[in-house]
Amino acid sequence: MTRPPLNRRLAEFGTTIFAEMSALAAESGAINLGQGFPDTDGPEEIREAAVRALRDGRGNQYPPGPGVPELRTAIADHQRERYGLAYDPDTEVLVTAGATEAIAASLLALVEPGDEVIALEPYYDSYAACVAMAGGTRVPVTLRPHEGSYVLDLDELRAAVTDRTRLILLNTPHNPTGTVLTRAELTAVAELAVERDLLVVTDEVYEHLVFDGAEHVPIASLPGMRERTVTISSAGKTFSFTGWKVGWITASPELTSAVRSAKQFLTYVSAGPFQYAVAEALRLPDAYFDGLRAGLAAKRDLLAEGLARAGFGVYRPSGTYFVTTDIRPLGATDGFAFCRSLPERAGVVAIPNAVFYDHRDAGAPFVRFAFCKKTEVLEEAVSRLKRLA
Ligand SMILES: *Cc1c(COP(=O)(O)O)cnc(C)c1O
Repeated sequence: MTRPPLNRRLAEFGTTIFAEMSALAAESGAINLGQGFPDTDGPEEIREAAVRALRDGRGNQYPPGPGVPELRTAIADHQRERYGLAYDPDTEVLVTAGATEAIAASLLALVEPGDEVIALEPYYDSYAACVAMAGGTRVPVTLRPHEGSYVLDLDELRAAVTDRTRLILLNTPHNPTGTVLTRAELTAVAELAVERDLLVVTDEVYEHLVFDGAEHVPIASLPGMRERTVTISSAGKTFSFTGWKVGWITASPELTSAVRSAKQFLTYVSAGPFQYAVAEALRLPDAYFDGLRAGLAAKRDLLAEGLARAGFGVYRPSGTYFVTTDIRPLGATDGFAFCRSLPERAGVVAIPNAVFYDHRDAGAPFVRFAFCKKTEVLEEAVSRLKRLA
């Protein structure tokens, strides 16, 4: 071969740290707190709903391109009942293969080669790759650690907007920092988007995983935003079925139709029987969502307190599956080296936050641990991490 097979757009995304760290976990027997998936399945009745759909022959053949009507209606009802956002299930809702496809289809549909896309850094790994596949240029705006949490510098965000900026790619609750953007921060982002005529694509897959009374505010609910926002969510995190890959967008008819144009040539459709099950899941009573939050908040406390006792600086998350730590109190500065040695030193796997940064230096001393694991697994991890102290 005269040239490497992977094209230039994707060359920098060859392999992910998750593969490397999961392999390390497997070969060393370390507890894997790297990747963010629950080690317990979601509600039994929802699993049974999927079995029923499969047995009844619902969704075993190509479902409708936009998603099955039952699910689109359930998504529209969810947005209206939870957030007061009215979307027409026929023209303003699109079911996707997880939030991952929703992100890819949105960027492929909305970004012109040469357009700039602003993303909050540290960012979810697929954002950079999807911006690249769309031929766009990513412009990171760094969330800064401040008094135990991460904050958005609104002046920095404003300064990042140029004449070529097409959209702002938001994520709240935010992976990996656990930050939940406040209504005031989101209002400022919204005002900027209106003023500079930008689109907003917002990844809200952790919308139900907020703790300590923090409020999740969909930016689409703020003045002037409904018409310029693509809101993305997914069943994976909310219902602990990350393997089902049922996601969705809600947006104006024009934006939905644009995203559908890209989506139809990616997967066309997916997850037929699971769509029916997720339609039922979205109608679970509040007790389910409250229980999910309370259970995860307790796991967060267990892991965050254990990490603090082991000597880490801890950024206590207000949402998501993750806690970000500072390794400098342990005398380390390089998160990569730290994570590569952690399985041997303490029998635990974590992810260096630097992989989520363009400004790698800004992320160097930070390391992410997932707490969406069984209590006994977290207890064992905490006990092993004591060796570091
Ligand atoms: C897990 C995750 C996703 C992917 O969601 P799927 O529905 O599994 O595709 C997207 N964005 C963020 C921030 C995530 O953490």
